[in-house]
Amino acid sequence: MPNVESPGRRVMLGNEAMARGLLEAGCQVLCSYPGTPSSEILPAFVQLKREHDIDAYAEWSVNEKVAFDNAYAAALTGKRAACCMKQVGLNVACDSLMSAAYLGCVGGFVVISCDDPGPHSSQTEQDTRLMSLFAKAPAFDPSTPEEAIRMIARAFELSEAKRLPVIVRPAIRVCHAKQDIVQTRLASQPRKADFQKDPRRWAATPKFRYVLHEELNRKLAQIVSEPKWADGFNVQPIPDGEHRRAGIIAGGVPFVAVRDILDDAGVGSVPVMKVGMPNPYPRALLSDFCERCDKVLVVEETGAFLELILESKPGVCGRNTGHIPQEGELVPELLYGILSRFLDEALGQPLPRAMDPSLEKLLEEVKPAPRRPTLCPGCPHRAAFFAIRRRFPKAVFTSDIGCYTLGLNLGAVDTVLDMGAGVTMASGFYQAYHQDGNDRPIVATIGDSTFYHSGTAGLMNAVYNRARMLLVILDNKITAMTGMQPTPGLGIRADGGVGGRIPLERVVRGCGVDTVLTHDPYDVPGFSAALAQAEEAVEREGVAVLISEHPCIIAYRDQLESKRMNITDACDGCLLCVKRFECPAFEPIPGEKKVRIRETLCVGCGVCVHICPTGAIEAA
Ligand code: SF4
Ligand code: SF4
Repeated sequence: MPNVESPGRRVMLGNEAMARGLLEAGCQVLCSYPGTPSSEILPAFVQLKREHDIDAYAEWSVNEKVAFDNAYAAALTGKRAACCMKQVGLNVACDSLMSAAYLGCVGGFVVISCDDPGPHSSQTEQDTRLMSLFAKAPAFDPSTPEEAIRMIARAFELSEAKRLPVIVRPAIRVCHAKQDIVQTRLASQPRKADFQKDPRRWAATPKFRYVLHEELNRKLAQIVSEPKWADGFNVQPIPDGEHRRAGIIAGGVPFVAVRDILDDAGVGSVPVMKVGMPNPYPRALLSDFCERCDKVLVVEETGAFLELILESKPGVCGRNTGHIPQEGELVPELLYGILSRFLDEALGQPLPRAMDPSLEKLLEEVKPAPRRPTLCPGCPHRAAFFAIRRRFPKAVFTSDIGCYTLGLNLGAVDTVLDMGAGVTMASGFYQAYHQDGNDRPIVATIGDSTFYHSGTAGLMNAVYNRARMLLVILDNKITAMTGMQPTPGLGIRADGGVGGRIPLERVVRGCGVDTVLTHDPYDVPGFSAALAQAEEAVEREGVAVLISEHPCIIAYRDQLESKRMNITDACDGCLLCVKRFECPAFEPIPGEKKVRIRETLCVGCGVCVHICPTGAIEAA
């Protein structure tokens, strides 16, 4: 491999570090669909390959399964390939993952699935380690950005040695932490695509899948018997012949948090076993550790993966014994209390108080008041939701994953399940009501990126099965929630190059919808008229689609024709603009039955002119 960059040190974000790790390991193909906390990996990969003129391919794929399959195909040609996504994205790619573990690969194939304990920005807190167990794909669990780089390199080696997909699951605190990292050489891989046809394997029939399953089980057993794969990542710290009253088992981010807390509290002698490669799980090391301790606390995110494995061992506690909450992120403040109670139980010695009580009280007082998340001032989705709610006061509103989920504050979102379910659940609601002869208006909303991701199958299904529903596609010309990645509707690729543009309207028509309207939600009267037109089309045709088209206010701020806003004396303080329309720029004037507009927040979109019942809002 030619050396294309000299080593050095640099402070990097975890996701940048992983992009670097991929290129240091010679990854030639990276495919992804954006999703917090994974979104920055692919852009950093693109930037590095461009800066250092590395011949590697990167794409934003339309969804995670597509990303997985594209990268997997490259791995079958012998290249090193990877895909990255957030943990719920792995659900979308799960079908492929399950099969790929059986079929195996040729070049190294690494799946980076970023977990979101908390959850901060996800539908579920699911644990990718459990998915790796389910799929029988080995997994690494980094504790720091620097470790993530090393694990990516090891994952490629393991993948190639055993011809298996290998998962790396960094949690959000690894993705978004910054660390001073030693860079090694970036590698431009010279491997050429060379797919060796073997239909018996790559297109295996169910009979041969059984053979492949046996082979997979053999590979996993071999990995366990070859400690080099987990070397440095799984560490049992109690020397032979020694015994302890208390020990802790941890992996991933909790490992460093536990280590820091114990060291800072002066009880660094409490042994902490590290499990950085949880699958295939290190049965012998774990058993050995448990046998050397009277009591063991398992500290892990997000599920109870190790604890389930150790359930039959005496003295083991964790989530399932009530020592650790069943949900939520194990932030250091929470962990401190957990560790203190455990050490009190096991050693009769809690941790010393973390903080001076007066300082604790002071910090409590300066905590900012909780504020519910809301759409940005001037967000075109607010205008669309307000008009939808006004036109269909009695409808069932299904919606989807994206910043427009916040339409629930405007009373225009009743359900959010997963990507694409805004459309599929709408037809499901229709069929359920229709079965009883009790049709209700059904209005689904979905973002443009989410529609490309997984909206089309549901829309085709709705048309095919004669559902009666209106779908509003909230087209803001960007994947806003995850950091402004382009969509197929823009025809701009991951590296900024020109791609094929796929207009939404053509896709919708291709799904069998005849009435496809497009209107700007900023034009409130016109948009309301378009909704009425679409409602008629639903009556006539069953499924109609209205594309609510206006660019995201953050991504395309320069395109906004800003107006100066004024509240007149006609304001009677009804607070509809604050409570129902919920533009953050409005605030009640204390002591008066009136509102004002905060100029620092108002973007001058002018939409609010149309929502005030007394006509008190004017554009100057
Ligand atoms: S500006 Fe209009 S909507 Fe807002 S409080 Fe005054 S009257 Fe109500
Ligand atoms: S013009 Fe009205 S709706 Fe637009 S940002 Fe300002 S206050 Fe909010």
